[in-house]
Amino acid sequence: MGKVYIVGAGPGDVELLTLKAVRIIREADVILYDRLVSEDILQLARPDCEIIYVGKEEGKHTPQDSINRMLVELSKVYRRVVRLKGGDPFVFGRGAEEALYLAQNGVEFEVVPGVSSVTGVPTYVGIPLTMRGVSSSFGVVTGHEGEGCYGVRWELSRYVDTLVVVMGVGKRQEIGRKLLELGRDAEEPVAFVERGCTSKQRVVVTSLGRLASDPPPVEPPALLVVGKVVELYKKLKDTQQHPEDALRLG
Ligand code: SAH
Repeated sequence: MGKVYIVGAGPGDVELLTLKAVRIIREADVILYDRLVSEDILQLARPDCEIIYVGKEEGKHTPQDSINRMLVELSKVYRRVVRLKGGDPFVFGRGAEEALYLAQNGVEFEVVPGVSSVTGVPTYVGIPLTMRGVSSSFGVVTGHEGEGCYGVRWELSRYVDTLVVVMGVGKRQEIGRKLLELGRDAEEPVAFVERGCTSKQRVVVTSLGRLASDPPPVEPPALLVVGKVVELYKKLKDTQQHPEDALRLG
């Protein structure tokens, strides 16, 4: 029986991989990867490594059950099976479901943390999630409340200075309205970071009031950051590195 490594691939820039992730990717016999894992990262695999796409975007949807089953089956054939997931595998990535399934089926596995987009993307573009005198807390919620999900307790937004929303693009106008209803300020700045830490990175800044009345066009995957810290973006953005600066690890 082989071993399954559930590995966080970070938010996109290959240099944001951990050394552990790089080693495990280089040693992999087979890699199952998500939509959020960049091409540069897959280049690190051995030429004879089998690479399987199991993303969940429309058209090529791979159901979670079949990913779980594939991991178990592949562990019977290969020694090192790598399940590569965007960001950190245990942050909104269903990595925990995969780990539980492997545990239930007696498959040996290891979970490797990654830089989550939740903190990695804002920092990369120049939005600090906390800052003395501006924000002393941040909360993170999902904007996607599908079947089998817990209802998001949006009241959280009353108690944190900075709110980060993942998977919030589709419902962005509704989210804006909900946050205003819960008492957040219409003047508060909000930022969307589309494809952060990649060469296609794009930042869109607006206000909460405008998000609720006239939301800007944004494409997923994007992270939504709500709070006064977004004002710091104007001052910090030019000091930030760009994805093109990244070394090619090859
Ligand atoms: N496990 C991942 C999150 C998976 S949920 C992590 O820790 O980062 C997927 C959501 O994460 C996307 O819809 C988007 O909101 C956010 N996301 C992931 N990578 C991103 C990136 N490079 N840029 C912007 N948002 C990203």
